[in-house]
Amino acid sequence: MPYTYDDQNIFAKILRGEIPNNTVLETDHCLAFNDIQPQAPVHVLVIPKGPYVNYDHFAAAASDAEVADFTRTVGEVCRITGVQPGDGGGGYRLISNTGRDGVQEVPHLHVHILGGRVMGRMVS
Ligand code: IMP
Repeated sequence: MPYTYDDQNIFAKILRGEIPNNTVLETDHCLAFNDIQPQAPVHVLVIPKGPYVNYDHFAAAASDAEVADFTRTVGEVCRITGVQPGDGGGGYRLISNTGRDGVQEVPHLHVHILGGRVMGRMVS
């Protein structure tokens, strides 16, 4: 599936420094920042710096270095924010809304990391 990247989307503007963000972690290939409308005590978005529309696009077109960095950045953010699961509890939810049926609003790949409370069961 070919994708056309819209470089006027809000996350592209954040990456260019045109819009401020509350950065949690920056790596060679990724930026992680707090969601502006948090749905949980921890709500961080992780995005690749490359121009990928969604997860499908990223999985097909990103380099191994970008994929590895993205995966490890998600793990590192979970450690930084203290939501990684342990014997006594903890844990988090990863969501990447993808495409129209996934109700993706911003057309730049992002993973939501939600934690700091017990999540509701996913029913829809
Ligand atoms: P989506 O529905 O998965 O595309 O989620 C987009 C997310 O981006 C929502 O949770 C918004 O609250 C978040 N968001 C939109 N604009 C900004 C911003 O400028 N900074 C941080 N988060 C944003």
